[in-house]
Amino acid sequence: MGTDYEGVVAAISDVVEGPIPPRVDATFGPGMMHIEIDKIVEQMGPPPWSKLLVEDERNRGTLIASAPGQGNHAHWHSNFDEWWFVMKGKLRWELTGGKIIHAQKGDIVWIPRGTVHHIVTEGDEMSLRFAVAMPPAVHVWQEECENCDDTWEARTPSD
Ligand SMILES: [Zn+2]
Repeated sequence: MGTDYEGVVAAISDVVEGPIPPRVDATFGPGMMHIEIDKIVEQMGPPPWSKLLVEDERNRGTLIASAPGQGNHAHWHSNFDEWWFVMKGKLRWELTGGKIIHAQKGDIVWIPRGTVHHIVTEGDEMSLRFAVAMPPAVHVWQEECENCDDTWEARTPSD
């Protein structure tokens, strides 16, 4: 699959002269250089929750926890592919066209732009997944969901 990077490179205005020591080292959230997952989980408490951990011009990485049976709002994205690293538990991706992916700890799931993804925790333990999107990560919402762990702010008209 070929990718045209020309527009992406042009969008990055913060170009540095290096090498330089780290300019940022936050203690919580984006800008943290060493993200200790166990500590994040402890601080956030019981699911459902999500925590934005990595953000720059190209990446928006969010750690998402959900309990068995909980899921996100079904949605799709028009201008980026999204992928997840499953860090704990088991999850089910329900996709446009009826395809279902069952993933577990250690798996990566990649979904191309345009495909609705409804993600539900399976089994009897909480799940943890690290979602990687491209900012501003505009969502096109598909339907209501009772158990929503998706706190992305950006929305588009549902057309
Ligand atoms: Zn998504």
